[in-house]
Amino acid sequence: MRPLLSKTTYLYGMQCHKRFYLNRYHKNLANPEEEQAQAIFQTGTDVGLLAQHLFPGGINAQGEDKWHGEASVKRTQEYLKTHSIIYEAAFLFNGVICAVDILVRNGNAFYAYEVKSTNSVKEQHIEDAALQYYVLSNCGLNLQDFSILHFNKEYVRVGEIDIAQLFTASSVMAVVEAKQAFIPKNIADFKKLMYLKNIPIVEMGPQCNKPYACNFSDYCSSLIASQYNSAIEEVETRIENRETRINRKEWESFTAGFEYPLFFFDFETIMYAVPEFNFSRPYQQIPFQYSLHILLQPHAKLLHTSYLGNGVADPRPDLLEQMIRELGTSGSIITWNMSFEKGILAKLAIDFPEYQEELLAIHNRIVDLMTPFRPSQAIVQSAAFNGSYSIKNILPVLVPELSYTSLNIQEGGTASFRYGQMGAMGEEEREQTRADLLEYCCLDTLAMVRIWEAIEKGMV
Ligand code: SF4
Repeated sequence: MRPLLSKTTYLYGMQCHKRFYLNRYHKNLANPEEEQAQAIFQTGTDVGLLAQHLFPGGINAQGEDKWHGEASVKRTQEYLKTHSIIYEAAFLFNGVICAVDILVRNGNAFYAYEVKSTNSVKEQHIEDAALQYYVLSNCGLNLQDFSILHFNKEYVRVGEIDIAQLFTASSVMAVVEAKQAFIPKNIADFKKLMYLKNIPIVEMGPQCNKPYACNFSDYCSSLIASQYNSAIEEVETRIENRETRINRKEWESFTAGFEYPLFFFDFETIMYAVPEFNFSRPYQQIPFQYSLHILLQPHAKLLHTSYLGNGVADPRPDLLEQMIRELGTSGSIITWNMSFEKGILAKLAIDFPEYQEELLAIHNRIVDLMTPFRPSQAIVQSAAFNGSYSIKNILPVLVPELSYTSLNIQEGGTASFRYGQMGAMGEEEREQTRADLLEYCCLDTLAMVRIWEAIEKGMV
């Protein structure tokens, strides 16, 4: 029988019936594929291959086309007779085809491992494993255990990657077994969906980003765009009329602790799934860039400096030296959302203990310019902030002449992605990316300066 459902389409159905249907019959309506999404997919594939080294000597049942079809199922049946370890072992039951990343046989007992490039087991991994357990066990496999192989977040790389330490196996057998009763009904529901003549009506909602961002969001958004256009215009008109209210007494009390020189500081970071450098962990935030605007004293000329790694070597040693030198030993270090910068500094102090004292001193000088904008503080308020205290929402309200919209890089996720690509770029593209990154991070700290000035000088 030709498979009707794959593991991926089953999980789409669990997320949203409309996504399931669109994926089956209207793939042309999907969002254009983004480079970043491809990179995340590639990371998953690479991590899967790496985990196979934990179980050496296996045979791969996946075909050349990298698609798990009936040929993969046939190959798996053959390999079961001759091999005790099979990678991408594929099975078909009740119209559902799925492949488990690593299948290990010990006599008549089987152990299944699904590899996930995360630091822990997530809810979506359980749904995924539950379907696989359903298919494998109904195909007659005596499954003794089902585990998610994910990263050990405590692993610290020193020298070559230690695969045995990098991964950890968490059994999900009990919870997966508890979900078995629901799976036949889900499958039956999804099969019925296939016979619908029209796209099912589903409102956009939290499911659009949970557990993953839906790739039909552009299409669904376009359906409701016209409905909202007039409302958006109305909101924009109202925003123009909304005033910023500042509790001057509280603002002065907040800034009374600021000491010159004032350092407006911001890190950009990158996370590598598999630790790229010594003294780093899976998905650790590695700072690769900072921007620093400095006001030595009131009314002084604004100074600017920055650091940016080369995209290849560990940026932390050079960044640390320059940062410690430039931040000196006195003056307030002003950040936006200080828990991020403080978290980075705390990890640097662990990984580079020779700088612990200086890093602790820097850590203790940090203040958070975001605090007065928190609705709970109610020091700087405007309905135009829309309840947000992201600098990207505050800036256009208080300093409309400064904007991220003309930049090639406009947010931290893109900055991180582009930095990660730099090592593989040609010279021209690399230079352009460097310029884009420097411009983006510079605006992050300049935005803080201008917001602070606008309030200090009573311009808002
Ligand atoms: S964008 Fe949301 S509503 Fe539309 S198909 Fe995706 S999950 Fe469903």
